Amino acid sequence: MPKLAQFRSASSLPAPAPSAASILHVDMDAFFVSVELLERPELRGKPVIVGGWPEDRGVVSAASYEARKFGIGSAMPLRTAARLCPAAVFLPVRHDLYVEYSDRIAAILERFSPVVEMASIDEAYLDLAGTERLHGPPLAAAQKLHHAIVRETGLPGSLGLASTRLAAKVASDQAKPHGLLWIPAGAEESFLAPLGVRRIPGIGKVTEAALASLGIRTVGQLAALSAEQLERRFGRWGEALYRKARGQDAYEFVVDAEPKSISHNRTFAADTSDRERLGSTLSWLCQKAGKRLRDAGLRARTVTLTLRYAGFQTVTRAKTLREPSSLDDVLLAELRALFDAHWTRKPLRLVGVALGGFTHAPPQPDLLDPARDEKRESLARAADRLRDRYGFGKIRLGGSLSDHEG
Ligand SMILES: [Mg+2]
Repeated sequence: MPKLAQFRSASSLPAPAPSAASILHVDMDAFFVSVELLERPELRGKPVIVGGWPEDRGVVSAASYEARKFGIGSAMPLRTAARLCPAAVFLPVRHDLYVEYSDRIAAILERFSPVVEMASIDEAYLDLAGTERLHGPPLAAAQKLHHAIVRETGLPGSLGLASTRLAAKVASDQAKPHGLLWIPAGAEESFLAPLGVRRIPGIGKVTEAALASLGIRTVGQLAALSAEQLERRFGRWGEALYRKARGQDAYEFVVDAEPKSISHNRTFAADTSDRERLGSTLSWLCQKAGKRLRDAGLRARTVTLTLRYAGFQTVTRAKTLREPSSLDDVLLAELRALFDAHWTRKPLRLVGVALGGFTHAPPQPDLLDPARDEKRESLARAADRLRDRYGFGKIRLGGSLSDHEG
């Protein structure tokens, strides 16, 4: 549970009015670039990129709004950025300097609330409930805080004030650059409705594509789907989507964001070449990864096996499946084949399993028995529900019983 929620349940402060808008999300604008511009004011208004030199192999850490107009964004290779905007000014990353400014901002935030949760180097959540006597109502406090940050650091930032973390985060994003957006309690759904689904934190390009295939592009369209429809299509992730579309926080659920990859490793206390033990470990890891896959409503197209021998020699082998799958036995068969083909019989220190190439697309039906895959999948989901209730270690496929405590 995030710190704010823990704080609220344990707090001795007077309880806020039901669903009052007191959660403030603060997000600095183009933070690394803005810090650099403090020392180089002559670069203001120019496309500036922090990350390294244009011919470096690295990626963009931050881009000014002027650079973003050329389609440049963080994580893009520097060389691509240089091609898109040859006139851009490139600067190396000075991480220590950004941490120093981050600490200064955190100190300002702490004057405004006893509950500050830094979510990253340039982003924080505050709960302003119960701070009225010091700073006035939440909106007035947020304005004071916004001015304090500019006055004391010279850095631009954007603020979102709302009754949930999710709405506050989307609001600060909509307020950029250097704005403050207040979503009164009760207005969360209408605020989110016209926005594209990707504006919702946790929705990535896989979910966006799956929703687009259903004709759903806006949060309002998403909110029109029933919880049952979403769960049928996305599994546990559907429950989270249902809440997110309404501006509610989803942290009590297993899944809060579309995963980028799913992997599980097992390091042995002593290196082992016991084939049976290795086989059961593989099955166990595959089931753990498979459950997370199904919880997220995903299917995987690639499986990856990692074998690390004594002496840290590491072998990684991947296989692409003909059709994406979320079924433990399908995934395990591929992993077993990789294991048999690549294990040299020498003692192993670690076995790892990773799933990737995610899709939400429904599986290709078994041509001979179209209902078969669906039946297997609903069986797997029934087993997952039992695992949620009784613990993972209690419900296992045959072949993984001889190892692990759960
Ligand atoms: Mg930021």
